[in-house]
Amino acid sequence: PPFPILLSGPVQKGFGRGGKDLGCPTANLPDESLPPMSTVTQTGVYYGWARVSPHNAEGKKVLSDVDSVVLPMVMSLGYNPFYHNQQLTAEIHIMHDFGSDFYGHAMDAIVLGYIRPELDYTSREGLIEDIETDKRVALKSLARPDYESYKNDPHFML
Ligand code: ADP
Ligand code: MG
Repeated sequence: PPFPILLSGPVQKGFGRGGKDLGCPTANLPDESLPPMSTVTQTGVYYGWARVSPHNAEGKKVLSDVDSVVLPMVMSLGYNPFYHNQQLTAEIHIMHDFGSDFYGHAMDAIVLGYIRPELDYTSREGLIEDIETDKRVALKSLARPDYESYKNDPHFML
């Protein structure tokens, strides 16, 4: 089985495709971080755990301790239209209210399961509704002891 899939990398600037407008900012991982995802072929929505380092790219501690614990996440895996749909992209929405952006911070994630394929939305409301469902599904799965235990995985012990 492909899971768990371990991902790590500095949070990159995306194309600002409206994640924040939808109330769903997604922290993008760089291309170099994505080879582990090649063990799964489906694009769509995944879930798991993520942790953001409190230190920025200059090594200064700018996030609080509550912002840098292991948190539940949903991740969208897709193909980037800017690269003629040949380049995979992984964007992680962390279910936590951060006080600020964290571009450049190291982020670690453990992907534990697949929720659904990507759909073409005709309405913004439909998309937002589905994201809310994804979050509930993710939280429900992550609460199972076998999934919860990954919070303590050595991958997060940096
Ligand atoms: P971009 O196109 O640059 O990825 P987004 O609108 O998707 O823009 O916003 C993503 C950024 O928002 C992240 O890189 C991160 O710095 C910040 N952010 C704030 N809160 C969250 C969160 N809960 N989950 C993910 N990113 C967040
Ligand atoms: Mg994003």
